[in-house]
Amino acid sequence: MSLKSYLQAAPKAELHVHLEGSILPATLLTLARRNAVDLPADTVAGLQSWFSYRDFHHFIEIYVTITRCLKSVADYELITYEFGAEMARQHVRYAEATFSPSTHAWLGVPAAIFLAGLAQGRRRAQQEFGVTINWVFDLVRNASPQGRARHADYTTQVAIEGQEIGVVALGLGGLETGNPPEDYQPWFDKARAAGLHSAPHAGELAGPDSIWGALRSLTAERIGHGVRAIEDPALVAYLAANAIPLEVNPTSNIRLGVYPDLESHPLRRLYDAGVILTVNSDDPPLFNTTLNDEIATLPVPFGFTLAEIDEILLNGVRHAFLPPERKIALAAEFRAEMQTLKSHHLP
Ligand SMILES: [Zn+2]
Repeated sequence: MSLKSYLQAAPKAELHVHLEGSILPATLLTLARRNAVDLPADTVAGLQSWFSYRDFHHFIEIYVTITRCLKSVADYELITYEFGAEMARQHVRYAEATFSPSTHAWLGVPAAIFLAGLAQGRRRAQQEFGVTINWVFDLVRNASPQGRARHADYTTQVAIEGQEIGVVALGLGGLETGNPPEDYQPWFDKARAAGLHSAPHAGELAGPDSIWGALRSLTAERIGHGVRAIEDPALVAYLAANAIPLEVNPTSNIRLGVYPDLESHPLRRLYDAGVILTVNSDDPPLFNTTLNDEIATLPVPFGFTLAEIDEILLNGVRHAFLPPERKIALAAEFRAEMQTLKSHHLP
């Protein structure tokens, strides 16, 4: 019993995790065999070494190959159900998982198929594990400028219709460099008018201008990553003053070369400047991490106290896209459970 075991057992919310990037290697092999898709490796170990990136372009290539392995309602149900099981194993009670509809549609899977699979998997995860999954459907930035409107129209429409299966926000992912948030304003306006929240990625591979663009043009309510805000003191002050949370994914930032190591990661400095942080896992098997591994970095090397870590975990509930009364109830449950767990794990 230790701080480590307490943090593993503590209740959590996960706000930045990609469904496609959460597929475990063994499941990917099953799906590839089932759908006769050639992968660059046919063993779990082989896939793990294929997941070692040269750069962000290579990462996107891997992502598309993974998406090719998904064809039927049962495939989408399986990955969602397994995602729920993995969340439950790590004591995650609530997750907002990102999914990229246009990538699937352009590889030939109609929305009726993936939406049905996501809905069934989500229902089973709730029933069997008590894990609630909501969705962020994201626009993918690496669509060509000509294709942008077509992709974005499609995703925005599917996201709006998907509210009945738990879509709560429109996201913006893909290649940030050279694709500024301003280009996507019309679709975020439309999504927000239809009741969706705004949760774009920004400030990961591009700097502070990208985050300013997400705030000004997309009315971002949370920023995916956002760590490069640290390069602009005025932006750090703005995020703190306006309580705009960052969805931070430390290991992802190291693996994709945003920072060389955790010691140079600005998480602690952002926190000390008053920015609200949530800690998340992004694409856990692709980065050889888990949410629990990410949380485990908070005491060492980031130097957070137990009380600070509890508050960071609770930020995941406070800044979820849930109705206020649901957040208050969930936060109260988390606090009560944390108290009980502490008496067992931290004598
Ligand atoms: Zn992400």
